[in-house]
Amino acid sequence: MLQLFSLIVTVLSRDILPERGLYMDYDVIIIGAGTAGLSAAIYTQRAGKKALVLEENAYGGQIINTLDVENYPGIAHISGFDFATGLLEQAQNLGAKVEYEEVLRVENQEDRKVVHTQQHTYSAKAVILATGVTRRKLNIPGEAELTGKGVSYCATCDGAFYRKKDVAVNGGGNTALEDAAFLANICRKVYIIHRRDQFRADEAEVAGIRGRDNVELVLNSTISALQSEEGKLSAVVTKDKVTGAERTISVSGLFVAIGQVPSNAAFKDVAEQDPAGYIIAGEDCRTSTPGIFAAGDCRTKKVRQLTTAAADGAVAALAACSYVDEA
Ligand code: NAP
Repeated sequence: MLQLFSLIVTVLSRDILPERGLYMDYDVIIIGAGTAGLSAAIYTQRAGKKALVLEENAYGGQIINTLDVENYPGIAHISGFDFATGLLEQAQNLGAKVEYEEVLRVENQEDRKVVHTQQHTYSAKAVILATGVTRRKLNIPGEAELTGKGVSYCATCDGAFYRKKDVAVNGGGNTALEDAAFLANICRKVYIIHRRDQFRADEAEVAGIRGRDNVELVLNSTISALQSEEGKLSAVVTKDKVTGAERTISVSGLFVAIGQVPSNAAFKDVAEQDPAGYIIAGEDCRTSTPGIFAAGDCRTKKVRQLTTAAADGAVAALAACSYVDEA
């Protein structure tokens, strides 16, 4: 009898025994613990609502791998790790709960949104999708097999393995040029392979890389093949788009920085997406489903920056809190 009473209390309180997969009611469930998601958690808690953040991997999103953030207003320099950790601690100190679980799908029920993870089923009045983006792959033979054996998508994570070696960076955006600048400090030589002769990166990044003795630009070129020796990357083959000439460049490491892709397939039933997979939402962060919002890099937008991710987190959280009050 006592056990039955205890079970009823547990079920009613809903968030006592998450490991048993019970429903747990929150005001707002935020999917993703990057800058947008954690900013949303801060604003949700400060609005007096109960927030749960669900994160598949590690907290922090993309910024956690940035060595030096120098374009966040009011903070001249901060490491990405310190920035992300500060956000996490701020959200948790305000009472937000953060769980590391992969979300499989979101259901839009009449009076609530139900979020299914590998381990549990949660429910909330509103959901904020803040899933970010991941690095785009080259999609050429050998890439998958050589990932971790010469092919990398994170220069700050893996760069130290290539100290005093020759490496290549593929891409012409801010990420590629930041990666190249970082690698040029520790590697013997850095080739920047870019498909055009103009960089997409900010002029400040481009200026920083030009004139460095150990950086060679391989422009108008794409990578057509990867070569390996004893299971490790040994060279990349580039193809000049103008002349058609092929060149084999011996490198121990290749850092792929050719942009980003969203991964929102799990939410396609509840949030309309554009052909590239970004969740369609305007500056108000509202998606095609009332009560489901999208914040940060995962939504359709022109400017994807730390500042705009944080701004989206605030906008989405305040909209979600209003939705909760009206529901
Ligand atoms: P990005 O700006 O989209 O640049 C991707 C680069 O890869 C472009 O140069 C593009 O070439 C090239 N590319 C795309 N697909 C390719 C393919 N299949 N094969 C070969 N090359 C390909 O991506 P990102 O550099 O990762 O930056 C993403 C966002 O984060 C941007 O908004 C960026 O400004 C921002 N970001 C900001 C900072 C900062 O503020 N410090 C740092 C990092 C990133 P094309 O130029 O020819 O299209």
